[in-house]
Amino acid sequence: MTTSSVIERAAGLKRTLAASPQELLIDGKRVAAVSGETFETLNPATGEVLARVAKGAAADVDLAVAAARRAFEQHAWRQMSANDRTNLLLRLADLIERNADELATLECLDNGKPARLTRLVEVEGSIKTFRYFAGWPTKFGGETLPVSPRGGAQILNYTTREPIGVAGLIVPWNYPLSMAAWKVAPALAAGCAVILKPAEQTPLTALRLGELALEAGFPPGIFNVVTGFGEAGAALVAHAGVDKIAFTGSTEVGKAIVRACAGNLKKVSLELGGKSPHIVFPDADLDAAAAAVANGIFFNQGQTCTAGSRLYAHASCFDRIVNAVTDFARKLKVGDGLQPDSDLGPLVSQEQWDRVNSYVRIGRDEGAKLLAGGQRPAGLDRGYFFEPTVFAGATGRMRITREEIFGPVLTALEWADIEDLISQANDSEYGLSAGVWTNDIKQAHRAAAALKAGTVWINCYNLVDPATPFGGFKQSGWGREHGRQAMELYSETKSVWVNLS
Ligand code: NAD
Repeated sequence: MTTSSVIERAAGLKRTLAASPQELLIDGKRVAAVSGETFETLNPATGEVLARVAKGAAADVDLAVAAARRAFEQHAWRQMSANDRTNLLLRLADLIERNADELATLECLDNGKPARLTRLVEVEGSIKTFRYFAGWPTKFGGETLPVSPRGGAQILNYTTREPIGVAGLIVPWNYPLSMAAWKVAPALAAGCAVILKPAEQTPLTALRLGELALEAGFPPGIFNVVTGFGEAGAALVAHAGVDKIAFTGSTEVGKAIVRACAGNLKKVSLELGGKSPHIVFPDADLDAAAAAVANGIFFNQGQTCTAGSRLYAHASCFDRIVNAVTDFARKLKVGDGLQPDSDLGPLVSQEQWDRVNSYVRIGRDEGAKLLAGGQRPAGLDRGYFFEPTVFAGATGRMRITREEIFGPVLTALEWADIEDLISQANDSEYGLSAGVWTNDIKQAHRAAAALKAGTVWINCYNLVDPATPFGGFKQSGWGREHGRQAMELYSETKSVWVNLS
């Protein structure tokens, strides 16, 4: 995309969005909320209203669940061949590809992140996810098992995998299209019907994805989108007609969902917060490590659940790494995501800006040393921009070391003893991911084994792929997305016993 084409496309999208409210997608039709209410979604680069969006609530969730249930039970969907489901998913991936520029620009406007990154991460990532899961329907089956019944009866035992049913998919604002794809693709591949509830800050690409699914040929009601606030998510969680909830978001809301599901025991998977350690050994390639540490925290304005927000650099290279990361932070260009030279866009909202700003104050009050950033960048007077920020002189007890900030704020800590390092790195309620930089292969594998995290990156950071499981230890979540594990999240196993005697 050239700069002028991005800006022209953005102007066209803004005009279209301003013309009429964005309605819910239920049973294959765009409809207003039952209440008739709407809410505003803002452009984080300017704070201006981008669109009015239907404010879905319990009554809309009722309609969406009824539509999903009807569609799920329909013969045409239940009996659709695995190969036909594969083809539908491939067609949807092709349509995302065909509309890539529009989706990338829409996400940039709604979320703030640079358009070249929405193209690369959100759009290309989603295409890859749909193509990967398109391969599963023809490969995801049961087994024949060698049971040993008493009395020597001749028994055939086999298992089947069945779609779990109607799945409620609740996603956050930090990677709106990707997070939707991570859930929608395996759920549809497994044969479920879905209700997607995007975050209130970023509802637009989810609605477009739902439209593209209809165009691809998914039957009406198989893919519904209910936009709205937490109350719409809570209504999905509470609904007796929903068989499964897949949630990505804050640990706090994750816990509320678990409490709400205690009454009906619907299946729940959770991808929650993180406070990931990024560890540098003295023998590492220090230049590469410093660049990765900076990218690991500042990418996506730090609004990444796997952000490497705690740097542990060995005492012998601490100053060199921290100086290099600080330099990197100062050189990053913060600006409107529509401009091609912007490395970082704005934070998603004023609320998020206030949260990040309050942690800078907390870090200073706790006695940590602010080396870079910590405020609104000069010359960016509107929108929710925040400078990449580095703190040193922190301790393990400080809140900036323990709590997820979800912004471009790095807390740098020094280590000297390996045992102590591992215990500090693991001293967190979270366990989503960790990074390790070393050229000593034994050291690398020992660290990978000792770290309590769902993903460990050695001499790399923040790589994800639909083929490999993603999820957290401890309070970072329940279950794993991606790979075969994701197919298991959206299906039930049935064991069938046949007496052949
Ligand atoms: P959030 O928990 O506030 O909201 C996430 C979604 O849940 C939104 O759609 C929201 O409307 C909905 N929601 C809010 N209250 C609800 C309720 N009571 N019941 C059901 N749904 C409800 O999170 P956020 O602020 O949008 O996202 C940031 C958080 O997400 C961070 O903590 C981050 O670490 C986490 N996150 C985790 C991963 C991961 O894969 N582990 C990925 C991205 C983000």
